[in-house]
Amino acid sequence: MNTLPLYVGGRFENGADPSQEVVNPATGAPLARAARATRAETDAAIQAARAAFDSGAWSGATAMKRGQVLLEVARRLRAATAELARLETENMGKPIVEAEIDVADAAACFEYYGGLATKITGDVNPVPDEALSLTLKEPVGVCGQIIPWNYPLLMAAWKIAPALAAGCTVVLKPAEATPLSAIELARILDGIPDLPKGVVNVVTGDGPAVGARLAESEWVDKVAFTGSTRIGRTILRAAADSNLKRVTLELGGKSPNIFFADAHWEAAVEGAVFGVFLNQGEVCSAGSRILVETPIHQRFLEAVVEKARTIRLGDPLDRATRMGPLVTAAHRERVLSYVEEGRREGARLVLGGGKPDGVLARGAYLEPTIFDRVDPGMKIAQEEIFGPVVAVIPFEGEPEAVEIANATPYGLASAVWTRDIYRAFRVVRKLRAGIVWVNHMQPTYVEAPWGGMKMSGTGRELGRHGIDNYLELKQVHVNLSESPVGWY
Ligand code: ADP
Ligand code: MG
Repeated sequence: MNTLPLYVGGRFENGADPSQEVVNPATGAPLARAARATRAETDAAIQAARAAFDSGAWSGATAMKRGQVLLEVARRLRAATAELARLETENMGKPIVEAEIDVADAAACFEYYGGLATKITGDVNPVPDEALSLTLKEPVGVCGQIIPWNYPLLMAAWKIAPALAAGCTVVLKPAEATPLSAIELARILDGIPDLPKGVVNVVTGDGPAVGARLAESEWVDKVAFTGSTRIGRTILRAAADSNLKRVTLELGGKSPNIFFADAHWEAAVEGAVFGVFLNQGEVCSAGSRILVETPIHQRFLEAVVEKARTIRLGDPLDRATRMGPLVTAAHRERVLSYVEEGRREGARLVLGGGKPDGVLARGAYLEPTIFDRVDPGMKIAQEEIFGPVVAVIPFEGEPEAVEIANATPYGLASAVWTRDIYRAFRVVRKLRAGIVWVNHMQPTYVEAPWGGMKMSGTGRELGRHGIDNYLELKQVHVNLSESPVGWY
């Protein structure tokens, strides 16, 4: 079986402990073995990134050159779409048509930051005439980047592209279950002659070992993390207890998808289903709470259930499939424990809740699952499930919609569906979430900032703001007067 290497200092090398089984969740078949990087191997990757940064080979390259390299990455990603999408689908289980979109989005991310590399400019500050005051922007340094398994390639792109545009160097750690596309990305990067060795390193392995080491290392200047709120907290703590490295966190969500009675009916019904069942519901911004105004509650629920019944579960490599298996059997058990909890709490299960049988039984599949009459305080309305499970919560009127929407510890995304423009913008203003969609849910653009309020994280990725995570400001004061200050 294929053993995946580590990518350190521009070399692919076999790890000392290649014992991480990588499995196809649609079939249960093993795909590869990945290395569980040891502490020494992780430190070697950090030192490679450190040396590459300190040499100035990348940060000292012209912005134009860095931009061109990123555009070349994008070209090579697009050229490898078929292969990358297949790897992603086999490893992670998402429908191939979604995986292809992910590759295009990953390429677009490199294109966006390739273009932005030459637009990183400082400021001239309006101080009195005796001085010239400048603000310089400099790369923050060595970046540890820890990513989840739900969008393996795209999350790697969101992390690596802005870091490289800024002149940083990187150690990327993919999630345990989904290392395949990250190693493939490393191969693509390795083939680009103008990207110096050691600028990007990819180290696979266990979160509590490799990820924790990146978060605590004195040699790492910044850590960027996407994953659970629980681990985000440990990373922030590790940063605080070590060198106060910069931290950005993109964490969990329990995003409300709010439907008023006047919403455009067909679009709203589809938006409720798409909002939560996209990517098997394994989406940080999943619309996992459907808030629906009482006059349409029953009719809307029935329409949503009917639409959700039409979702084609199946072989994710089949282009007609719209929902694949969950990422691992173990994750499905976690999701199922929430289904059990919902039943126990007295919510009404109106669709799914079980494992499909027949040909799908060998995969980690779970039926699209809908709970109705969910009380906003129930666990299934408060905690991130990260699977195809949605809680339908009726509300009466705008104030109650906003109150329920904001009543979780999370604040990542949200959506509001109405044809009333006054109400739409009133609700937009009141939602405590980093992203608000109006009459849509999930469209994501690299040009616009992404991230959460409250316990959904800190900092924003993507867009112009996304590059600031990788830049330090340096204030430069140039004295224009030759006379002494004359103080003594
Ligand atoms: P989940 O377990 O639901 O996939 P996690 O937040 O645990 O979500 O995982 C997201 C990423 O964080 C993965 O790459 C994982 O390996 C990594 N990780 C897990 N535990 C730690 C830790 N203690 N320190 C740093 N990274 C971790
Ligand atoms: Mg975990």
